Amino acid sequence: MSSPLAYTAIKEIPSIVNNLRNTFNTGLTKDVTFRKQQLKQLLMFMNDKRDDLMDALYNDLHKHKMESNIGELSSIIDECQYMIKNMDRLMKPVTTNKRFKMNALDKTIIRKEAKGVVLVIGAWNYPVNLLLMPVVGAIAAGNCVLLKPSEVSANTAAVISKFLPDYLDKRAFSFVNGGVEETTCVLEQRFDHIFYTGNGVVGKIVMKAAANHLTPVTLELGGKSPAVVAPDADLDVTANRLVWGKFFNNGQTCVAPDYVLVSKDQQEKLIVAIRKTLLNYYTANPQKSDSYGRIISTRQFDRLKGLLDHYDASQIAIGGKSDRDDLFIEPTILKSISYKDEHIMQQEIFGPILPIVPVDNMEQAIQIINVRDQPLALYIFAKSASSYNNILDKTNSGGAVVNDTLMHLQELSLPFGGVGASGMGAYHGEKSFETFTHQRSTMIKSTGFENVLATRYPPYTDDKDTM
Ligand code: NAD
Repeated sequence: MSSPLAYTAIKEIPSIVNNLRNTFNTGLTKDVTFRKQQLKQLLMFMNDKRDDLMDALYNDLHKHKMESNIGELSSIIDECQYMIKNMDRLMKPVTTNKRFKMNALDKTIIRKEAKGVVLVIGAWNYPVNLLLMPVVGAIAAGNCVLLKPSEVSANTAAVISKFLPDYLDKRAFSFVNGGVEETTCVLEQRFDHIFYTGNGVVGKIVMKAAANHLTPVTLELGGKSPAVVAPDADLDVTANRLVWGKFFNNGQTCVAPDYVLVSKDQQEKLIVAIRKTLLNYYTANPQKSDSYGRIISTRQFDRLKGLLDHYDASQIAIGGKSDRDDLFIEPTILKSISYKDEHIMQQEIFGPILPIVPVDNMEQAIQIINVRDQPLALYIFAKSASSYNNILDKTNSGGAVVNDTLMHLQELSLPFGGVGASGMGAYHGEKSFETFTHQRSTMIKSTGFENVLATRYPPYTDDKDTM
């Protein structure tokens, strides 16, 4: 089947970026009325093209409308409304409390300046959200934007790049579509900020390319996010929320719980609770359930099937079946997995397979988390504050949720981002505005009091040393 997505001609890419720079230099995007109007246009696009976006997400990922709404569309609308409402406050220059006595009579302010021309590179697993959420912040902060949707979710990329240019000012917002070759050419151009979402291998390529122009980057990456089930956890609630977060979008979520750490004597009880929840959510035949998604591509399917093939009935506690023609993998729970397991514990799973790693106690769970890269998310299921605080205090992660999964992503008052191998920088809400803003320290001196201030001029003599 031919791709629905037309790629941008590589020879056109430098002039697309140049045009954006010329527009930025006119000051068009810095105007507050322009910014608000563009965000209103984006809201109109989200409203007018809701069905087209939902259909494209279904075609790419078999996403149910509920999942498309929760995971993709609703937060973009919320973010646009937040920025329109709060932009005047966020843009306001901040006056600092001066500390140097020679500046006592002067003005010291931090101006909130747009960075310039920014590049946003999206990933395929939430192809609307991961592309447009950062764009909202970039528009609010007064930038021109080049959008590079993921070519892997081709239907969604095609819908956004076909219709969105009719809503936004084409002088200030442009698209490049394509794969590695096109993105490589894009990355050779100079930007004032690069915002990339995707895997860490490409994250390094992006950062190296940015280094050539000393361009700042935000890298929203992934990794293995653990879920720790403490001895005092409510296992039924844990199962409901763990299963929801793991199998939402078929496990293809950057903050999906990747593996579970639970004490040895609770493993079987947790599996019983998970089995019951899976039956409630997706019935005994998940392949027929509307609520259960699909793997994005045969490439990803083969990678996941390859992982599954290392395990037999002694370790597959639930599920394990698959159907390549339908890109379907049953919700699968693996049990009694060692944290050093050489297959499932080596890479981010990014699919509907959940290994359970039994531990002797919570201190061992903490050690296991700490020997690995810092994860993007950490989930702790525990009733008592001393129980979850002990784990929070002794670990680190991009974000953390106690007694749930994924919900911190939906809460836009919380900055979202990774730490170490799971990423750098953050966004959402006020943090997005900050990410795409240069804080320009500015001093406005009076021309008076020259006699007093002249003590700093040469020739330097002991009696002048008054600073
Ligand atoms: P992907 O394949 O869609 O790639 C992301 C982008 O990188 C695409 O636009 C693609 O064109 C571009 N790209 C790919 N190869 C490139 C190359 N060699 N040079 C330049 N550009 C290139 O997505 P993916 O990387 O498979 O996404 C999955 C990963 O992203 C997972 O690790 C997941 O955890 C992570 N992720 C993180 C977040 C987050 O917010 N932190 C969100 C979603 C996904």
